[in-house]
Amino acid sequence: MRIDIITCLPKLLDSFFNQSILKRAQEKNLAIIQVHDLRNYTTYKHKQVDDYAFGGGAGMVLMIEPIDNCITQLKSQRSYDEIIYMSPDGENFSQPIANQLSLTQNLIILCGHYKGVDERVRQHLITREISIGDYVLSGGELPAAVVSDALIRLIPGVLSDETSALTDSFQDNMVAPPVYSRPADYKGMQVPEILLSGHEAKIHQWRMDRALERTRDRRPNLFEEK
Ligand code: SAH
Repeated sequence: MRIDIITCLPKLLDSFFNQSILKRAQEKNLAIIQVHDLRNYTTYKHKQVDDYAFGGGAGMVLMIEPIDNCITQLKSQRSYDEIIYMSPDGENFSQPIANQLSLTQNLIILCGHYKGVDERVRQHLITREISIGDYVLSGGELPAAVVSDALIRLIPGVLSDETSALTDSFQDNMVAPPVYSRPADYKGMQVPEILLSGHEAKIHQWRMDRALERTRDRRPNLFEEK
């Protein structure tokens, strides 16, 4: 899977993609993440990529031309499954969307900034708009990182235990059961006995029961979803 991220602040993303699981995924060639600096695609002076909004009002707008130049160049190199714009009013990101997108080959993710991007970008250059929640951030970089992380950890071979992404919350419409590690007794706080028993079937059943209980308590809506 290849993800091309277009941003006017590439440095914001550098360290995120160069740590831990995402770094290893790239080293193992399971994922390619390319961050593109919008300023390299502008023909305006001083690498300008934003301008005032027509009609007035506070806040700058990312101009269409550099975005079009960058997307056009990428599309001339390969075909893309989706060209995604991160936007607070897009469809709400969820595990089912992550599962679906993780099966694609090539994605572009466009990060907005300031007031957002020229509306004509959204109308003509983008195939999908995704939000990471009903709140507003300063830029699309964190949302793009969120989406990329959620997709890449689903690629087989990225997590060391391949089944582990499948036992996370929201797969099978349930949240995950509680987990514990050493020591079994910490200042009198005990790990449930059953987990120390070595009895696989009983442990499996216990985890299932706890996951169901937690889903009922915290996310009962998941039982209604397909
Ligand atoms: N004026 C816009 C907000 C712009 S915020 C509005 O009111 O809708 C600047 C950029 O941050 C956006 O272009 C988008 O790319 C990104 N962004 C902010 N919040 C986001 C969210 N919840 N989900 C996805 N992207 C978001």
